[in-house]
Amino acid sequence: MVKTLAAPSKYFQGADILKDLHQYVGFIGEKFIVLSDDIVIEIVRDKIRQGFQDTQASWEYIRFGGESTQAEAQRIVDIAKRDKHDGIIGIGGGKVTDTAKLVADMCGLPVVIIPTAAATDAPCSAMSVIYDEDGTFVVSKRMKKNPDVVLVDTQVIAEAPLRTFIAGVGDAFACYYEARACRSAGSMNYIGGLGTQAAYTIATLCNQALRENAVEAKKAVEGKKSTEALEKTVEAIIYMGGVGFENNGCAIAHGVYNGMTAVIKPFHAMHGEAVAVGTLIQLAAEKIDRAEYDDILGFFREVGLPVCLEDLGVEKVTDQLIMEIAQAGCTVSPNAHKMPFKVTPQVLYDAIQVVQERSR
Ligand SMILES: [Zn+2]
Repeated sequence: MVKTLAAPSKYFQGADILKDLHQYVGFIGEKFIVLSDDIVIEIVRDKIRQGFQDTQASWEYIRFGGESTQAEAQRIVDIAKRDKHDGIIGIGGGKVTDTAKLVADMCGLPVVIIPTAAATDAPCSAMSVIYDEDGTFVVSKRMKKNPDVVLVDTQVIAEAPLRTFIAGVGDAFACYYEARACRSAGSMNYIGGLGTQAAYTIATLCNQALRENAVEAKKAVEGKKSTEALEKTVEAIIYMGGVGFENNGCAIAHGVYNGMTAVIKPFHAMHGEAVAVGTLIQLAAEKIDRAEYDDILGFFREVGLPVCLEDLGVEKVTDQLIMEIAQAGCTVSPNAHKMPFKVTPQVLYDAIQVVQERSR
């Protein structure tokens, strides 16, 4: 099978770099759509103004409709065509940036992704999650290419809610373990080939950077000030986690997350929080050495990540609920079957029981 690697064309990261925005996106053209929402635009408006000051470029703020739907993307495509824009800049959380990716894919314009929190590893990927009008998941769609620019202002990230940051650590932490599983199973990545040595090294480095910096970085977010540890952690979450998962593939950690969202209603946990518990479930299914497991469990506790289903807001954890999650984990997505051994509902059920037991 062919080995393959895909990544955003350009990646910029630093404190307050939004103030120099044009310097990083000016190569695209002179007329931009800024897709965001009223809360986020208030936070970044002054920086964007400054970023376009004394340049020929102009930007038009378009208020995001609130849901990443095909119709919402079409609405923005129509505006982009009517007003002859050169590029789309999506600023905010996952739904805004996913819509920006979809708009760009539909009308063939370059896209700039500016995440305002490090809550997931999605920004660098070519994936866009589409929902219907009432917020029900429809499909996770691959764009023709990865974003042209991903720009991360780490001061904006430092000022985002702490919970989003911790969830981001949880999402990215899964990357290495899922990469390791896919590699030993010879499973395909999201590009449609096998992971390269570079991709696996990125996943490995992601894990190392999180272990070395995430606890210190948490203090930076608490103090709302970007630091070196925060910079390293943000790069691990957004760049290494993003390029890492897309180019290596996902496994049980995300498969069981998919199962949880199908079974636990209402689902209040953030993506990365549930993926963190999913990672522990994967490690239990892999029957890794107990000392290694406890070491990771200790790291999760230090960061403030959830370590069992109760931590994800499930009030009453029953054997039946665990079996339902295990069954959904095997059917809702193909992720759980990327492992180097056969994964059945019983395998996941037993692993979840181990994780529950060890969290006490
Ligand atoms: Zn994820």
